[in-house]
Amino acid sequence: MIKNPLLEKYWNEKVSTLATLNAVSIPDPLKERHRLYSLCLMAITHHYWNGLKKGRDGEYPWNPDPATAGGKYLRDDYRGHNIAAFAVDKRGLVIDFEFNHNRLLNSSAEHAEARLVRRIYGLTQINDAWDVASPSAPATDDYNTFEEVTLYTTLESCSQCSGVMALARVREVIFLQTDPGMYMIGNILRNLTEKTALESPLPVPGSMFDFSFFTELDTAFEGFTKEVMTKPFYKSPAGKVDNSPSVTSFLCTALAYDIYARAAKALNDLADGTTQLLFPDAKPVDRAGKEVTNGLTNAETLKEVLGFRDYAVQKGRRATPHGG
Ligand SMILES: [Zn+2]
Repeated sequence: MIKNPLLEKYWNEKVSTLATLNAVSIPDPLKERHRLYSLCLMAITHHYWNGLKKGRDGEYPWNPDPATAGGKYLRDDYRGHNIAAFAVDKRGLVIDFEFNHNRLLNSSAEHAEARLVRRIYGLTQINDAWDVASPSAPATDDYNTFEEVTLYTTLESCSQCSGVMALARVREVIFLQTDPGMYMIGNILRNLTEKTALESPLPVPGSMFDFSFFTELDTAFEGFTKEVMTKPFYKSPAGKVDNSPSVTSFLCTALAYDIYARAAKALNDLADGTTQLLFPDAKPVDRAGKEVTNGLTNAETLKEVLGFRDYAVQKGRRATPHGG
């Protein structure tokens, strides 16, 4: 006897039914908004890129000579996988961002999304610190802090982060690359959680808003998983080779770096007018699909993400020795 009605619904179905979500159609002006935030997140990740997953010694056959421009970034010390997340509020303002810090904190659970959710809970509770008068920041109930928050992450979320985001009731999670190792847990949790309780965020792959870099990353990673069998990711000084088709190894290659570099350039092209917004006056919509009247237009969103990018690359060290 299954006590959970949603689980019961899927109990005798195929797994594919449980892991599939109904297609969501995103209007073109909203697609453009998603692309702006996505480009910004890739630009920040690109700025802080590090590639020496296995340390400074040994060889990285997928990467160029460290003396070259691209090689310089790929040679930076490894503090975490090149994965980042940021959160956007109902109006379209960027709240904050975080990196993956697995390596820096010597823990395989230090993912960007879970770190970000915890960081934002910390920010919302700042008003109850001793001797802080901030009437403009009223206390937020822990169950509605994230209900209108969209979280962007460069890589599809794992079960830990999907669980944390479900407990926080994050509205939706936009991801810019598929991680096949995460067995579509975001979809599965979305189907198994109830609207009225701790509903898991709606997972939105970049393909749903025509984000070309999403397809590029997925295609390049697929190529990497095949080619790495004959062209190792790493050769240690002792001659040990790493042929693992790992997504975090892929995210240390020039292949991935180049895609991030082009995304960073695409944002610069919008900034200097080389390319133009198609829907500069469009506004965001809330969870119910209603236009947010004081929301940022797409033109204002471009300014917002450029400002946030500059903040993140100049000051956003997150109290850790991320290199610049
Ligand atoms: Zn995770």
